[in-house]
Amino acid sequence: MKYSIVTGAESAILRKKTLPVEDPLAKDIQRLIPDMFVAMHEANGIGLAAPQIGISLRLAVIEINEEKLVLINPTIKDHIGDRILFEEGCLSLPGKFLAIERYETITVEYDDEHGTHQTLTASGLLAIAIQHEIDHLDGVLIVDRYDESLLKHYAL
Ligand code: ZN
Repeated sequence: MKYSIVTGAESAILRKKTLPVEDPLAKDIQRLIPDMFVAMHEANGIGLAAPQIGISLRLAVIEINEEKLVLINPTIKDHIGDRILFEEGCLSLPGKFLAIERYETITVEYDDEHGTHQTLTASGLLAIAIQHEIDHLDGVLIVDRYDESLLKHYAL
């Protein structure tokens, strides 16, 4: 199925906390994963969460440097080191770029597309993308995270 991307900070689906995926191997989930990559590629994004295509499930995909990551029921378990400020965009908020503070290194637990439980420690852009997508699964957008006073703190 071909999906289009839901846009707008006021969109109800983007503000809802998603439900866990009960069975990563279920047919509808297995069909949805490649469709999400297609929708993400068409929009030239590096990450896409299910609510962004109107599906309120705890599922997101990321692709950075041709490295694909499928996050099913992800949870951030730990963070290491400092927080960093990075200018983020969002496929659901076209044209908006905001400097957001994120942890530089995180450990995330999730099930992959084969239903295998995984623990991953990620840094840099991948860590930022994971935090951004997990925010989507909790109904949180970059406009909620944006804090202008931080810009002074970082002297930007
Ligand atoms: Zn986004």
